Amino acid sequence: MHQESPIKRRISRQIRVGSVLVGGDAPISVQSMTNTETCDVAATVGQINQLQAVGADIVRVSVPSMEAAEAFGEIRKLVTLPLVADIHFDYKIALRVADLGVDCLRINPGNIGREDRVRAVVDAARHNGIPIRIGVNAGSLEKDLQKKYGEPTPQALVDSALRHVDYLDKLDFQDFKVSVKASDVFMAVGAYRLLAAQIEQPLHLGITEAGALRSGTVKSAVGLGMLLAEGIGDTIRISLAADPVEEIKVGFDLLKSLHLRSRGINFIACPSCSRQNFDVIKTMNELEARLEDVVVPLDVAVIGCVVNGPGEAKEADIGLTGGSPNNLLYVGGVPDQKVDNAHLVDTLEKMIRDKIAAKQALEANTIARG
Ligand code: SF4
Repeated sequence: MHQESPIKRRISRQIRVGSVLVGGDAPISVQSMTNTETCDVAATVGQINQLQAVGADIVRVSVPSMEAAEAFGEIRKLVTLPLVADIHFDYKIALRVADLGVDCLRINPGNIGREDRVRAVVDAARHNGIPIRIGVNAGSLEKDLQKKYGEPTPQALVDSALRHVDYLDKLDFQDFKVSVKASDVFMAVGAYRLLAAQIEQPLHLGITEAGALRSGTVKSAVGLGMLLAEGIGDTIRISLAADPVEEIKVGFDLLKSLHLRSRGINFIACPSCSRQNFDVIKTMNELEARLEDVVVPLDVAVIGCVVNGPGEAKEADIGLTGGSPNNLLYVGGVPDQKVDNAHLVDTLEKMIRDKIAAKQALEANTIARG
């Protein structure tokens, strides 16, 4: 049953990325990035729609050329999610996508070049009412900072970020967010901690190039978990060498585990052992696959035996405790019905969907009554 997060979030200045608020008291948004060829409009639109289906709030699209900028304009017309254009090296691409309806411009100050170019990007952003993300990355620090520090350090990342924050300040442009990503957890965490104490803008968190699905998930969860637990972070991206859909799923699981956001089912499941009275792992795999479409938050406990089953079931919206000859299902913490192994998954799915429908009806009623 829903728990409030004990985390006290850092108060940041709120910005708007399309329809999504970032910072302030807005929910921490979950982002991913397309990995299709941007010029392949159909494939990119298809992937953005897949990301939307699993709950993405914002999607970033790489725009490496003017041809890609024109394709971006087409993509913008075909999807509803807020889109961030990722621009490196050529500031003119930023100017073009600003005119084509982009919702945020991500620029890397380390490679966008001279101040007059940054100024041109800022003017375009101001003119179109869109924010900027200053995206500092340990792998592409400015040369003079690389020379000064010898190697990327948290302070070097922050120096790079502050240089551009100061410049935007000078131009009286405040609608931006900042990221200081590194692939090393301690370097990224150190940089974000330093930066959080020095600016008021929202922070976009990420451990860059974190790795493949399993290792990248662990690395991101450790790094982002440390920061989020301290209240730092307004929007996140889990960078995985995997299907971007997984990045969104992991992002929500991370926020759910810290009670910072709730979306879909929060499963509480035991690892199973020889005491189990039904196949816990098979049941969980089946339930997760069948209930992927659920967005309403719900706690569901799936526990193999009475050792921990009744305790967990009492705390969940719906609970299943393995037993012999029958398993016991709980609703709202109270025993509801017995079920045998053959009907377990079907019965649980139906109960979960009924509970969700009841929750939605209650919410609709509350809204209707004002
Ligand atoms: S709850 Fe029961 S089945 Fe599950 S791991 Fe513990 S003892 Fe084993």
